[in-house]
Amino acid sequence: MMKKLLAVLTAVLLLLTLGACRSEPDEEQDMHTKDIFAMDTYMTVKTYGKNGEEALTRSEKEIHRLDKLLSTGSASSEVGAINEKGSGTLSKDGRVLLKKALELYDMTDGAFDVSIYPVMKLWGFTDQEYKVPKDSQLQEALALVNAGDIVFDAKTGDVSFAKDGMAMDFGGIAKGYTSQRLTEIIKDAGVESALINLGGNVQTVGTRPDGSDWRIGIQAPDNEEDVIGGIETHDMAVITSGGYERFFEEDGVRYHHIIDPSTGYPADNGLTSVTIVCDDGMTADGLSTALFVMGKEKAMEFWKAHKDLFQCVLVDDDGALYVSEGLKEGFTAMGGRTATYF
Ligand code: AMP
Ligand code: MG
Repeated sequence: MMKKLLAVLTAVLLLLTLGACRSEPDEEQDMHTKDIFAMDTYMTVKTYGKNGEEALTRSEKEIHRLDKLLSTGSASSEVGAINEKGSGTLSKDGRVLLKKALELYDMTDGAFDVSIYPVMKLWGFTDQEYKVPKDSQLQEALALVNAGDIVFDAKTGDVSFAKDGMAMDFGGIAKGYTSQRLTEIIKDAGVESALINLGGNVQTVGTRPDGSDWRIGIQAPDNEEDVIGGIETHDMAVITSGGYERFFEEDGVRYHHIIDPSTGYPADNGLTSVTIVCDDGMTADGLSTALFVMGKEKAMEFWKAHKDLFQCVLVDDDGALYVSEGLKEGFTAMGGRTATYF
């Protein structure tokens, strides 16, 4: 049921995002497109010009390869096997992911914590058996959440956990890593213009074929058919995190999938959505999750300390938009909204 809802939601989001992208008739002729369902998400990859088909074939293969490798819920995946055993050796992809995850953990003061899995499991987000855990259960699981307790050798890929029962969850960066990989594959195939949309998480390759910027729509957190604004950009990932993307309701209360590692509960720090613009997809993905956990004030402070790395659009509980200074040119608020720049 939830999966179905999610599928519909991502499909709508996809339309919204692509609807916001202008396209001219001569561009359409040179466009190659592929829809793929993987990682629980509807994905669309569009390539333009010579070698476009070849780039799509390679992209699809890569998506399925990474899906198999990274799906935490399956014991046959690399991460699943390591979680079950408590140790193992990560492949090249896994090493890149864990290295970045640990970097993000340090950088965000623990707001991004790849060892969140035991808590995700308690809430039922790992198998769709949703339930509100008892506080005592949460405290027990939280004792296992500390990425600092992951013992990792980035050279050999050997990984183990300081405590029994610890487990990793790459869900917060997997799609960004995937879009980053696709960007590399598409460029390698000789394509200079492409749009990768992994369920609303977008990464652009180059500009549009006519040399102008892509225009990416950001979904309103409270209405899947509404767009809060658009970002004009090129060669960038535009990745959004929001509680509306995956949640369940119990006794009239909504519980979503982005967990505050300091409490074990869904992050409730004043934000309903965070969009990151960054030239690296995996960094954008990790930071969108982390800034959502931080909340508005901390997220703004964090941006000030890392303004060369990324730009962001924050939506607070009242629907107000806060946009980092670097997007003054690139961002347009929509639907009668106004943006406050910081
Ligand atoms: P995203 O949609 O990119 O914000 O990622 C949300 C996913 O990241 C969740 O479904 C979990 O798999 C994982 N996750 C949830 N909370 C955290 C957290 N605090 N740090 C790292 N990953 C998280
Ligand atoms: Mg993320």
